[in-house]
Amino acid sequence: MPTPVAHALAGIAVYLASRQDHARWPRQEDWVLFGSTVFAACAADLDFGIRFLAGHNYHHYFTHSLGFATIFCLAAYFFARWAKRPLPKRDAWMLGVAYLTHIVLDMFSKDTVAPFGVELLWPVSDAFTISPVLFFDDIWRGTLTELFGLHNWLAVAREVAIVGPVVGLLWWRRRKQVAH
Ligand SMILES: [Zn+2]
Repeated sequence: MPTPVAHALAGIAVYLASRQDHARWPRQEDWVLFGSTVFAACAADLDFGIRFLAGHNYHHYFTHSLGFATIFCLAAYFFARWAKRPLPKRDAWMLGVAYLTHIVLDMFSKDTVAPFGVELLWPVSDAFTISPVLFFDDIWRGTLTELFGLHNWLAVAREVAIVGPVVGLLWWRRRKQVAH
């Protein structure tokens, strides 16, 4: 699956694509929303933590599903309302879409640990789904040498090469917007 680099870039892309206003950068940029969107794009991988609590690997299980993305989106809405954010629905949509990008990116990534892919339709189905075409490489994390080895650096470079241009284009568009 992709590293947090690809997921964070996808979160930035969602943020840039969603902002339509002419706020002056960086003072009037909504940094809380920016941070929350990037967090939402990476959040599904917090399931790594369940292993320490439950003693069983749940990575790519229910947190990587459309069902959980819906729960996340609803939770974001109620949290935004509680925090008295001016546009709670817009915030929730942005965070929900950012969460979804994580699932999509993982589906298009090489997976070497069974079951392959993500539990996309949880809780309706326990089946795992993976795209037949894979754009992202897997990440080796057996040992520290592997973790910081060439294979993983090349995998990250590939992520930046794929998601980076999308962010670049949206950034360019936003700069033009703000300039007007
Ligand atoms: Zn993931």
